[in-house]
Amino acid sequence: MTNPERIYNFLRERTPAPVCDDCVAGHAEVSPRQQVNPVAVALGLTTDFTRGRGTCSICQDEKLVTRSLRHF
Ligand SMILES: [Zn+2]
Repeated sequence: MTNPERIYNFLRERTPAPVCDDCVAGHAEVSPRQQVNPVAVALGLTTDFTRGRGTCSICQDEKLVTRSLRHF
């Protein structure tokens, strides 16, 4: 699996829970973790995901989170 696939699949599995980039990197095992940001930004531009400030469903921190809107 490529890193974008890992990120996409992880967020989809957690629909509709918001997840921050750090938790996506840790749980989807994406390395280096900086690769999460551009992928999450791109996903946030699609109609299947939203991105913005919110509470991460994993670490409970208030930060930039990405959320899948639809189950497939
Ligand atoms: Zn988090």
